Amino acid sequence: MVENTDMFFDIPDGLLDEIQQNIENIIRDFDVPEEDKLEIIRQINFIYTRTKYLSITDDLTGLSNRRYFETCFEKEFLRTQRYNNKLTIVMFDIDHFKSVNDTYGHQCGDYVLKQVAHAALQTFRKTDTVFRFGGEEFVVILTETDIEQAKIPLERFRKTVQTLCPVYENQQIDVTVSIGACQFDDSIKTKEELLHRTDNALYQAKNTGRNKTVFYGQNLE
Ligand code: GH3
Ligand code: MG
Ligand code: MG
Repeated sequence: MVENTDMFFDIPDGLLDEIQQNIENIIRDFDVPEEDKLEIIRQINFIYTRTKYLSITDDLTGLSNRRYFETCFEKEFLRTQRYNNKLTIVMFDIDHFKSVNDTYGHQCGDYVLKQVAHAALQTFRKTDTVFRFGGEEFVVILTETDIEQAKIPLERFRKTVQTLCPVYENQQIDVTVSIGACQFDDSIKTKEELLHRTDNALYQAKNTGRNKTVFYGQNLE
């Protein structure tokens, strides 16, 4: 078995085993001494796993990327529909982020993005996945969570960002996020609809003052 690769790249055990099996099947017929085969398998598995990891990860923040979001969201949506599970989708976007870039420079903007991403990873549960959806916009899939259960972590996250006050080259940067969220219900027939409602909620949060959370269909404040 490959040592420690899963620890470095956070690939689920099931997937690692599948990769291992595929590689073993390919290598079996190679005309090399048996003892070398193990090392070949180990190296191919390492490279494959790293490539897989890079393909689903956002370079800058280390969060899952949009490509991976599409895969996970599809799976989660189908599971929710089929088993009547709870599911809440969250979108958040950094407020006036363009002015951070304009005032302090793009590198400072990158630094702020990383700080906000880190705060999100710290706030949400291990079973929830945070994705960088694009630019300064993020999505969180809150599994087994309805609106009521989402309120506490989302409010905690909003306040965490507000008090983050990252310092870049001796300048303190004010950062806030606007958050939109929507829970799955039977009136939602497609995952696109769920995402669209979530986006609407975020849009409302932006249009009604920013630095706030809006749930589709009901305002928190
Ligand atoms: P709003 O509160 O309405 O969201 O305003 P905003 O300024 O955050 O939104 P806008 O869409 O006008 O600007 C988003 C900015 O995010 C512009 C773009 O240059 C910046 N941005 C996107 N991706 C990156 C990135 O990877 N690094 C940096 N530094 N900036 C980025
Ligand atoms: Mg923004
Ligand atoms: Mg934006």
